[in-house]
This record gives sequence, structure tokens and C-alpha cells, in this order.
Amino acid sequence: MTTSARSYVWDVAIVGLGPAGRALAHRCTALGLSVASVDPLPQRSWTATYAAWEDELPDWLPRDAVASRVARPVVWTRRRHTIARTYCVLNAPVLQSMLTKDSGTVFTGRAVSLSPTCVHLTDGSALKARVVVDARGTGAGADLAQQTAYGVVVEPDLAARALAGEDAVFMDWRRDNGAPTSAAPSFLYGVPLARDKYLLEETCLVGHPPIPLSVLTSRLHHRLRARGVVVPPDSQVERVRFAVEPPHQARNSCSSGLVPFGSRAGLMHPGTGFSVATSLEYADVLARHLRDGSAEGLWPWRARVVHPLRSLGLRVLLNLEPEQVPEFFEHFFDLPIRLQTAYLSDRANPRGMLSAMRKMFLASSSDIRREILTSAFRREIR
Ligand SMILES: Cc1cc2nc3c(=O)[nH]c(=O)nc-3n(C[C@H](O)[C@H](O)[C@H](O)COP(=O)(O)OP(=O)(O)OC[C@H]3O[C@@H](n4cnc5c(N)ncnc54)[C@H](O)[C@@H]3O)c2cc1C
Repeated sequence: MTTSARSYVWDVAIVGLGPAGRALAHRCTALGLSVASVDPLPQRSWTATYAAWEDELPDWLPRDAVASRVARPVVWTRRRHTIARTYCVLNAPVLQSMLTKDSGTVFTGRAVSLSPTCVHLTDGSALKARVVVDARGTGAGADLAQQTAYGVVVEPDLAARALAGEDAVFMDWRRDNGAPTSAAPSFLYGVPLARDKYLLEETCLVGHPPIPLSVLTSRLHHRLRARGVVVPPDSQVERVRFAVEPPHQARNSCSSGLVPFGSRAGLMHPGTGFSVATSLEYADVLARHLRDGSAEGLWPWRARVVHPLRSLGLRVLLNLEPEQVPEFFEHFFDLPIRLQTAYLSDRANPRGMLSAMRKMFLASSSDIRREILTSAFRREIR
């Protein structure tokens, strides 16, 4: 780092250039703030398949940042459901490149310590700023609930066979993956990445511990064989493993004066592992807050009410018996779409969230209701 960069006081220093850090750098720069960002591998290409509901994406995102759209994805629980909500797979290279343009100054390095106005890097240098944003993500967090998945990229004819001709399957909880009925269940996720390729992924939504990737690999191949699909040995694969909650030490960063953002700040939905669309949306909110100090920032009271309800939802998922999981999701996907949306996407709609939870509770069998009540009153996970 040059001497001038060392002595300059930036408006905002952002630590971590995943989707959240990149989006924030881009939006802060668009609002005229001076931004310095740091990441050990800022040039690393995003290869993960990021997806989101179309209505979650901000208006400023260009249309070509979406690689594929499916108007009515399907879910299989104990029966078939269609979701009347468009689902999108993002074009990660386009997203990364548009967020990278006009996003301030980027430094390659690893932060060792963060204070509210200074970031110290492993090479001994430091960045000074009016505000330091911690966007270091959740990491793998072995002591936290995690999502794991193993997927293969296949051609459309193989995907059509695996998905019985559906355009996209958001969750398929049917048990043709060879998992014993007493084992933690996983589901098949199948989405078009482009016109000529599909991702078929066996997914452990959340686990503590999660289902190992080796188990998901054999379940995926078992399921696909059962559907007449043999995956070509040279197929591209996707491996997923990340914590769905921020690490324990990040939970006090607000009170320490640091500004956390992205999955690090609890913007990841702990019941789905999704955070990218929320970070894109709230990058603007936080950027305006940092410039003007006017808005409520990331945590209006409504979001503070919803957050623990989402955590309760996570505990319920972790505590359900394996055979209860498809029934639980059956009730979820029977909810009206506005309540599904409130539960999955709206982090500041306590009324919608509570209404979704109440309806789910009333529709559930007595065994599931007992698990919900137990999870509400006991914080530990079984
Ligand atoms: C294969 C795969 C598929 C996924 N699919 C989806 C999806 O469909 N939809 C969705 O919403 N989410 C999905 N996720 C989860 C998604 O990756 C996260 O939601 C998202 O990356 C979180 O973004 P973030 O910027 O908050 O954190 P991260 O992406 O984890 O970025 C954190 C950044 O901080 C940097 N960093 C860490 N420590 C330091 C340090 N000490 N100093 C400087 N920099 C540091 C890291 O290098 C990294 O670049 C998927 C994940 C995987 C792996």
C-alpha cells in the first residue's frame, strides 16, 4: 500500500469483497463516497450458482445480470406444488463485473484487526476511514448450522429426465435418493443455468452438523440413476458448504462501532442460506445511511422483530424428525404466495412473518406442533 493510501482517510473502508462487500462498494461510490476495499483475493471469479426470487432484485440491477428465469418453479413434498413466483439464476460473471466497475479503490490483503475507523492488514499496513464495514461473510463456521450441497451440471435432455420435464424444481423431498428413512433428509434442486445447461444439486438445507458432501454425492447419483440419468464423468460439479449464521464474534460488532454487512450482519436468511439478493437490496439502504446518516440503517424495529423469528424457524428445521420434514414443507408451500414471500424474503414484515408462522402451526400435525413449541422455548438444538 502506498504512503498516500496509508495516510488518506476514506469515507468507507470495506473488508471483504464477496457479493455484499462488492455491492456496497458499488453503491457507496455511486453516491459519491470515497471507498477503499480489501480482500485477500479480490480478482477471484465468482463461480457459485447464485439465485434469487425476481421480486427481490433491486431495480438498478441490469437485466443481463440474470442468466435464467423460471415463472413457476415446482416443489415436491408429499405432493406437487407450483410456486407462483419467478425464480432467477444470476449471471455471476456479469454481476461481479458490473459491481466491480466504479467501486472505489481495491487493495489485496487480509485484515487482521478491525476497529471503527481503522483496518490493520497482515502486511503491517493500515487503512483509515470514517466508517469500517465488516463484510467478511459467515465462513464455514464448524460450530454453526451449515448448508451443504453437491451438484452436477448437465445438458437439458438429462435434466428433463431427472426433473420429469419441469422447468425448475426448487425442492424435491421425495425419497428416491437412497437415504434411509431415519437419516437427515436432503432434497434435489434443479435449475436452468442457461439454455444449454442445468444444475442438479442434492442439498442439505441446514444441518448442525450438516450432511457431509460425500453422502450428498452418493444420494445425488442414486436419485439420478433411479430416474434413468447417468451423469457423464466429466460433468462440472458444484460443492456448497457455508454457515447460515454469522460467527459468534461478529454478533457484537455493532456495539463495538463496526458496521457489519451482508451475511456477516445477519442478512442471510438462516432457514434458506440465501443472502445475495438481500445484500444487493440493502447495499443502497446502507450506502444512503452512511452518506446522510438519515435513514434507520439496516435494522429498523421491524427487522429486529423478524430476525429472532427467523432464528426460531431455523431451530425448528434443525429439530424436526427426518420424516416430519416433507410434511413441514407441504404446509409451507400451501401458504398463500404473499405469506411465503413474507417468510422467505421480507426481513422487515413482522405481521407477514407471524401470520405465515401461525398458519403453518395450525396446519401442522400435533407432533410437528410439539417440535415448534419445544424449539420456541428451548434454545439448544437436539
Ligand atoms: C456454491 C454455492 C451456491 C450458493 N447459492 C446461493 C444462492 O443461490 N443464493 C444466495 O443468496 N446465496 C447462495 N450461496 C451463499 C452465498 O455464497 C452467500 O450468501 C454469499 O456469498 C454471502 O455473501 P457475503 O459477501 O456476505 O460473504 P462472502 O461471499 O462469504 O464474502 C466474504 C468475503 O470476505 C473476504 N474475507 C474474509 N476474511 C477476510 C479478511 N480477514 N480480510 C479481508 N477479506 C476477508 C473473503 O475472501 C470473501 O471474499 C451459495 C454459496 C455457495 C458456496
